[in-house]
Amino acid sequence: MKAPWFMELIGAFGGRCVYCGGMRVLTVDHVVPKRRGGGGESNLLPACEPCNSAKGCLPFYVWLERIDLPLVTLVDRIEAARTRLGRIQSDAARVARRRLQRLITVMHWDASQLRMSKLKYGDR
Ligand SMILES: [Zn+2]
Repeated sequence: MKAPWFMELIGAFGGRCVYCGGMRVLTVDHVVPKRRGGGGESNLLPACEPCNSAKGCLPFYVWLERIDLPLVTLVDRIEAARTRLGRIQSDAARVARRRLQRLITVMHWDASQLRMSKLKYGDR
């Protein structure tokens, strides 16, 4: 049983996996894997089981490269979901919206880290 805010989140993504857009049964994906320090509830997105298990504990940017999904596209999807949540008057929707906002901030930070590491070490 998923928390009400997460159910709102799933609805805001149209019941689709954030990564592949598939409409399979959705699981709770830890964007930054727990084993890599990803904690808290602003780190969760709906993902289908195949994506979630393929992602495993890969660093987030490695996963995005593997599925050829630009970060900017993913952030656009998240922004769209956040906008949809803004139209729903419920506490669960407000919580979901706040958590997405925080997640977007983390992703921008992660992307800037990636750019820095690419400058330092080149593309891997
Ligand atoms: Zn998927």
